[in-house]
Amino acid sequence: MRRRDFLALSLGAAAAIGCVANKNAVLVKKTKTASHSVQTPAIVAPQAEEYASNDVLEDGIGSSGATPKDHLTIIEEARNIEPIIAVGDELELLKSAFKRLNDVQKHIGFGNFNVINFDAMISVAKASKTVGAFTQAELEYLEALFFRDAKEYGFFGAKVTDKLTASIEQKEVFKVPQTGHYLYKGQAAKVYESVKKDIGDTIVMTSGVRGVPKQFHLFLAKTLECKGNYSEASHSLAPAGYSYHGIGDFDVGKIGFGEKNFTQDFAQTKEYEKLMQLGYIAIRYPRGNPFGVYFEPWHVEVV
Ligand SMILES: [Zn+2]
Repeated sequence: MRRRDFLALSLGAAAAIGCVANKNAVLVKKTKTASHSVQTPAIVAPQAEEYASNDVLEDGIGSSGATPKDHLTIIEEARNIEPIIAVGDELELLKSAFKRLNDVQKHIGFGNFNVINFDAMISVAKASKTVGAFTQAELEYLEALFFRDAKEYGFFGAKVTDKLTASIEQKEVFKVPQTGHYLYKGQAAKVYESVKKDIGDTIVMTSGVRGVPKQFHLFLAKTLECKGNYSEASHSLAPAGYSYHGIGDFDVGKIGFGEKNFTQDFAQTKEYEKLMQLGYIAIRYPRGNPFGVYFEPWHVEVV
């Protein structure tokens, strides 16, 4: 089997690019005026310090502000939709649900939070005095968001996890030493081993398996950064249920490259070049693709 057959780079849920909406309001074309296009109240996006330190290495966290021109083209051409923005009560629920998710992550630790399922998350919150139970409204909000068709707000990728309560079986994954992340045994593990062997010691996994709560956490953090704008958030981060990290994909980076691993800068590294040269990489969605998602050179497609 050619390597190309089982390993490819994709651009699913690009991340550290940040919330473009904050920098350039014309990115999403307005084709019609809709009632939800009301002004968003100014909110304070969560500060980086609120996250666990290695969250900086995760999709959606650690904005670099890098916005190569082709991204603008992608958005203008492919995402010709009215932005969907959380306001009022919905924005409040978004904030409180995010805070509780964040507290659960702090409580159980970053590694465990990567793979916890929705029901276990609810139990953990309830049992913890510092977190406190999710309110009915918060749960209904998360559930509604999970089952909402992401195409409505402009994310055109496939839904790969359709159960809100989907579990990651402990026996199917293993913790990758020194990363705080998990990988699926089998194909994903093989691909990672192969990448490390061929690229060398400077390559490391920066994000592995992510369950539904983890993807919620990342997506809501990004949405808050985008002042409640789901459409802008989904340019650079897959909504919960839509991430291939749920079913086997992972991200790689260069050791010591920090946050820049989640920027277009990674595509300038020797590691990236080597991945290309060795035929590991096929681009699932080329730059300027019609799916409305950014080019994400650090994301390894396994599934
Ligand atoms: Zn990824």
